[in-house]
Formats: sequence, C-alpha cells, structure tokens
Amino acid sequence: MHRIKITEFPPEETRTLELEGPEVRHLQVLRHKIGDIVRVFDGKGVEFEAQILELNAFTATLELREQLENNRETPQPITLAIALLKGDKLADVVRQSTELGVTTIQLLKTQFSDVPDIKGNKLLRLQRIAEEASKQSRRSVTPTVLEPIGIKQLLEVKNGFVAHPESRNTLLERLHWDAPLWIASGPEGGFSPLEVQMLQNKGFTAISLGQRILRAETAPLAMLGAIAATGV
Ligand code: SAM
Repeated sequence: MHRIKITEFPPEETRTLELEGPEVRHLQVLRHKIGDIVRVFDGKGVEFEAQILELNAFTATLELREQLENNRETPQPITLAIALLKGDKLADVVRQSTELGVTTIQLLKTQFSDVPDIKGNKLLRLQRIAEEASKQSRRSVTPTVLEPIGIKQLLEVKNGFVAHPESRNTLLERLHWDAPLWIASGPEGGFSPLEVQMLQNKGFTAISLGQRILRAETAPLAMLGAIAATGV
C-alpha cells in the first residue's frame, strides 16, 4: 500500500483530510483514483489508513480510517552527530542511517573536515533523502537533518558515544535506553584530540568499533548496525 507524507493531520475530531500541491501530485504520479486506500503519515510518528473520497488536478479529500500502530521506532530517539564528508558520502550516510533508525542527523563542522560548511539546496537535498529513506523503511518518523554547527555548540548529553579508534570501550556493553541516545562520528581526517575531549566533556563516552580503521562513512553505520542488531 502506498504511503503519502503529509505536512499535518487535522484536529483529532476531523475525519477528513484535505490535500493540495505536492501531496496531490504524489497521488497522481502513483495513479491513484477515488476509492483507493492509502497510508498517510506526518513524519512525526502518526500514521493512518485513509480512503480517497475526491481527487482532481489540484486537490484531494481523504477519509481517515484506522490509526496505525507504529512500532518501528527505537525506545529513545537517536541523534547521529556526523562530521561533514566529501562528495556524496553524506547523502549515503543520511539514507542508511535513516534505514537504521536515527531520528535526527546533526551535521558537524570539524577541524579536519574537507568540507567547511553546507547550506541551502545541499541541505534540502539531504532532508529529501531522509524523507525518501524513511518511507522506504516504512517508518512514520522522518529524521530531521540539522544544519552544521561546531562541537562547541552541542548541548550536554546524558547518553552519548563518540567513535574513537583509540578507545578500548565498546558500545554494546554501555548501551542503554534511559535517555535519548547520541552517537558522534568523525570526518575522513578524524576528530582532533581537542574535539574528542570536548565531546567527552559534553557527556559522550569514547568507544571503539573494532581493531580496523573504518572509513568516515562506514563508522556511523557500524554503530547504528550494532544497535539495530540488538533487535530494537
Ligand atoms: N586518521 C583518523 C584517525 O586515526 O582517527 C581516521 C579517521 S576515520 C577514517 C573517520 C572516523 O571514523 C573517526 O573519526 C571515528 O569517529 C570513526 N572510526 C573509524 N574507525 C574507527 C574505529 N575502529 N573505532 C572507532 N571509531 C572509528
């Protein structure tokens, strides 16, 4: 069944949903007609089964039927703090980390990143990739991609891990779900010692991902893969 992302559901007592613009075009591209049943979700965790009552070139009316249980999210939201990476590597990380369950991707400007900053259309493209990937993995939460900030600007965390090849701690022996989870991963050139220290001061525990040095685009997926493999 097709899943359509909408901006917002109407107030609780309203059983019909009026759509226009890109949401209607999406229904048309999928060749839907009156009477078809689709799923609609808002990217914030709410999903309904809905029937198309009216559909024309510009607007559509859907009847909201059953609200669907969403049990695809992890026990706490996961934020991936990822250093800016070259080329399309960041797009791959956004796509795959969305499949693996992140709720927020916080881009980080770091000392050894080859890319100093990204904004505008590049940022929008990453957000669109997150939306596509969350649909693909049948999540009803769409991760938010946040514009790059420096490590200094990160707030303190209660449950955070930074991938650091020199550490001997492992993630799985420390993983818990008592607070929102943060994981941080560095650029091709690694985090500087000062950056690792700053992350630790903000509550991140340094962890190893094994004896081999992983590429900057592999390390965050290794962390998220290990978490997903616990069955959450
Ligand atoms: N020359 C860098 C160094 O030795 O730190 C290598 C950086 S690595 C290509 C990019 C990022 O991936 C690192 O900053 C770290 O966050 C993560 N990483 C790669 N391999 C890792 C490992 N075995 N354990 C923990 N983190 C790792």
